[in-house]
Amino acid sequence: MEKREIEAAVSRYLAERGLERMALKAAMFDMDGVLFDSMRNHARCWHETMAHFGLDLPEWEAYMHEGRTGAGTINLVSVRQRGHEASEEEIHNIYKYKSELFNQCPKAERMPGAYELLLKVKASGVVPMVVTGSGQMTLLDRLNRNFPDIFKKELMVTAFDVQYGKPNPEPYLMGMEKAKKWMRSHGDDGDLLPNHFVVVENAPLGVEAGVAAGVFTIAVNTGPLPDEALLTPGANLLFHSMHELCDEWEKVMECLGDHK
Ligand code: MG
Repeated sequence: MEKREIEAAVSRYLAERGLERMALKAAMFDMDGVLFDSMRNHARCWHETMAHFGLDLPEWEAYMHEGRTGAGTINLVSVRQRGHEASEEEIHNIYKYKSELFNQCPKAERMPGAYELLLKVKASGVVPMVVTGSGQMTLLDRLNRNFPDIFKKELMVTAFDVQYGKPNPEPYLMGMEKAKKWMRSHGDDGDLLPNHFVVVENAPLGVEAGVAAGVFTIAVNTGPLPDEALLTPGANLLFHSMHELCDEWEKVMECLGDHK
């Protein structure tokens, strides 16, 4: 990507938001499909589960719903196919089946390029954070094992923190609050605004959440969806892999960094 394309995206963002400049301090990373190559397992399990219960959800479409709650996805398919929502019991059974299937899948690998990018982010003085709808108990352990010395517990937002989840801006707004608190306790004045952050997302609903939180949102299209699926909800920049974003990070920092 040319530097002037990044500059143009930044100018558009600042003009739309009535902001003067970017001054990046923290980067909020989504987890599934960004840090871990876990989406193909999720998509396949959703498809197989729905088929088991007589419902139709193609694998590619599961990527469109990434970030929705299990109940949300089940109801959407149920209404479309049967004209009514699923009962509590159906939701419970379907989601249980999907979770069991998912737990049998091999553990997802680190997304290629993700660790290299995180090292660069940290070295450039930007604080890396995780904002995910996932609620696995072992999340922090797993992140620490795969990305040693990168993340801190106080700087993570998970399913346990939020009420609504993406595409609601809540998880990213909460990430900004946690960053403020953390920076204040580390001697910064803690007056953080949306222009001090970026969001890195792979899912249409995740991009929607980042944009709704007022944050400059970088889409990384690591799945089978067309780029349009991420650009339409308002992604400010789009890369096709974490490797690509990693290779371009210096240019991104030149345009988004804190240049007083
Ligand atoms: Mg994701």
